[in-house]
Amino acid sequence: MKKALLLIDLQNDFMPGGALAVPQGNEVIAIANRLQPSFDWVIATQDWHPANHGSFAANNLPQNIGDVINLDGLPQIMWPIHCVQNTNGANFTSDLDTTHINAVFQKGTDPNIDSYSGFFDNGKRKSTGLGNFLLQQGITDVYIMGLALDYCVKFSALDAVTLGFNTYLIADACRAVNLQPTDGTKALAEMEAAGVKIVQSAELYVK
Ligand SMILES: [Zn+2]
Repeated sequence: MKKALLLIDLQNDFMPGGALAVPQGNEVIAIANRLQPSFDWVIATQDWHPANHGSFAANNLPQNIGDVINLDGLPQIMWPIHCVQNTNGANFTSDLDTTHINAVFQKGTDPNIDSYSGFFDNGKRKSTGLGNFLLQQGITDVYIMGLALDYCVKFSALDAVTLGFNTYLIADACRAVNLQPTDGTKALAEMEAAGVKIVQSAELYVK
């Protein structure tokens, strides 16, 4: 058994005050920092959009934030402009300890398709390389935390379990967008039904 900690999208734009703030998103950073030394491998994802990305309402006027359009054949929620490549909003939040991170995988780089999962775009048209990277390192167990529980965390966990990894979701180390108030709890149930094991960070510290 070889395990990796997967940190999903711990970026400024998802923090309170950011362009696409996840409520209480900042509360998971201290947990990320405490957990990292308990893992041999720490891998981070980064939402990393070009300025012309098709998921931005501003690039699809007169659509409003929260509307759903057809983007190159897939339903696409309209989001505020966020995580534009090489901007401060796309940077890891400065409170995050990045010294243990072995590799970073960026997603959402194609303007014509969004990518919630750290493994594939939303149409599974292209891989980010994360799955092959984990296999090449011999990693069998993937522990997932971060933002947001009901989007990028959920789809990353579902892909990890589909790819055959023993997949754990660290529930207290995630926060949800909750466009609908029950989205976070529904996401947990969906992951558990798919075979993801739900754990708490306190169980994972290696003494
Ligand atoms: Zn995005």
